[in-house]
Amino acid sequence: MNKPEKKENREENDRSLNFIEQIVEADIRNKKNEGRVHTRFPPEPNGYLHIGHAKSICLNFGLAEKYNGLCNLRFDDTNPITESVEYVDSIKEDVRWLGFDWGERLYFASDYFEKFYEFAVRLIEKGKAYVCDLSSPQIAEERGTPTRPGKKSPYRSRTVEENLSLFRRMREGEFGNGEKVLRAKIDMASPNMHLRDPVMYRIIHAEHHRTGNKWCIYPTYDFAHGQSDSIEKITHSICTLEFEVHRPLYEWFISELEIFPSRQIEFARLELNYTIMSKRKLMQLVNEGYVKGWDDPRMPTISGLRRRGYTPEAIRNFAVRVGVAKRDNIIDVALLEHSIREDLNKRSPRVMAVINPVRLVITNYPEGKSEELEAPVNPENPDAGKRQLTFSRELFIERDDFMEDPPKKFFRLTPGREVRLKYAYIIKCEDVIKDISGEITEIRCTYDPETRSGTPGSTRKVKSTIHWVSAKHAKPAEIRLFDRLFSNENPDEAEEEKDFKSNINPDSLKIVDGYVEPELFTLNVLDRFQFERLGYFCVDNSSTPDRPVFNRTVTLRDAWAKIKNR
Ligand code: ATP
Ligand code: MG
Repeated sequence: MNKPEKKENREENDRSLNFIEQIVEADIRNKKNEGRVHTRFPPEPNGYLHIGHAKSICLNFGLAEKYNGLCNLRFDDTNPITESVEYVDSIKEDVRWLGFDWGERLYFASDYFEKFYEFAVRLIEKGKAYVCDLSSPQIAEERGTPTRPGKKSPYRSRTVEENLSLFRRMREGEFGNGEKVLRAKIDMASPNMHLRDPVMYRIIHAEHHRTGNKWCIYPTYDFAHGQSDSIEKITHSICTLEFEVHRPLYEWFISELEIFPSRQIEFARLELNYTIMSKRKLMQLVNEGYVKGWDDPRMPTISGLRRRGYTPEAIRNFAVRVGVAKRDNIIDVALLEHSIREDLNKRSPRVMAVINPVRLVITNYPEGKSEELEAPVNPENPDAGKRQLTFSRELFIERDDFMEDPPKKFFRLTPGREVRLKYAYIIKCEDVIKDISGEITEIRCTYDPETRSGTPGSTRKVKSTIHWVSAKHAKPAEIRLFDRLFSNENPDEAEEEKDFKSNINPDSLKIVDGYVEPELFTLNVLDRFQFERLGYFCVDNSSTPDRPVFNRTVTLRDAWAKIKNR
């Protein structure tokens, strides 16, 4: 192969790669870090993970898989006040559930506290860090603005000895919260605000979920993050765009400390319309009772999506589909819903369920008789086999599938009209019975015994087919009809004096009593089904054998599509 040809091949290959893969492949070609690829997913355990984190997990673990590398799970646990073991455990569970494995490589920034302390001492000794007594509002005030240089702290000229002694005394607990900080001595006039003597350590007298009361000084995120990457010899440190402006600071620390230089690459965070993704706001929804916990099936958290019935495969496919971008952009949540629909269509057994039941009696069907009919478990998957349906004289159908006085385009059941009962017979409506308030309590029909599905008579055509369950055999169930949590495309867009919570969709949850096919009942939590004509549903973890509870994962079609067409 001659040279130009090789280059062309490479260019072609590069075009099918995302920009991060291009960087990684170029580094491998150039034998940077001996061709090693080592990434990490670095959550702060101060909340549950959401779909944005899933994107980052898929990206980091995905790159390691693709390039025969490794990916660490590292908790960035540098703030004892907001972090907890509950969050650590939930994060581990979520990463595992998504299908990724960190092997032996579970790390905590708190494991490096001693090392960070040594790094800080080293910088003090080099005259590159100092203890400052200004309060945090004073520091913010004297920092200046991007166009106006900051003021040098009066404590900036402390001697190395004085700084070493004060920093040791900070560690020993001699000072109260906020009385002193350790700052890097960089440049108070830098156009990059992050280089204006940023805080490296603050005093927080609080118990840490792993180190207990061993420490009362804690490194800032900016001082801990890059150094953690370096300690773990991370080759490609992937983070979201807001950290682009922090990069010069990380590089300054690395070069002053002469430690392993991880390469930071920034990508645009995943944003979805109709969705809130800030942990702080999600926490408000939980704490203020707008939802029933972090795993409420309306939450965009991984635990919420799991309980809603999402599969890890659907989330991973979604992460690939949205790709990695260098600029912020908002993805239509319909794309996420499409991913789960597509996956569930392939894998879900079909069953019939009636969620808004009305009784239907077949007057010419013998009382006390029942018969077994056959239906495919999943028409998309012939290997899934057949299921048995029990048919009898009294059924439930959807109230919405009947109209006494129908408009022109209504083709389902009406007085005098025939429809097919799915996998069963053609029936004809003869009469309706109402209660004193005028509500229909019973629809009376006759059936045509010659039209049973699978027999020659079944070829007779009628305009519509509706689903049903046998009243005597079906199992009552609680059915939770979830919808989008926010009714505004941009939940943060709120009227004055109001916030994102004013955009909560009042119809995001409706609970109804329905009936499901009896064949369903050996149920396990998270078993997933397609309720024919209604949508995809899964068994909720509050379900009991006596009182099954189903969550609607997603409707069969996108009911919100009219709003946005991408
Ligand atoms: P907050 O929600 O308070 O802004 P955070 O989401 O940044 O916090 P971290 O625990 O620091 O919380 O995030 C862990 C990793 O997940 C980081 O590397 C971060 O860049 C990435 N991440 C967070 N949100 C998103 C998102 N929406 N899209 C892609 N990656 C994300
Ligand atoms: Mg963060």
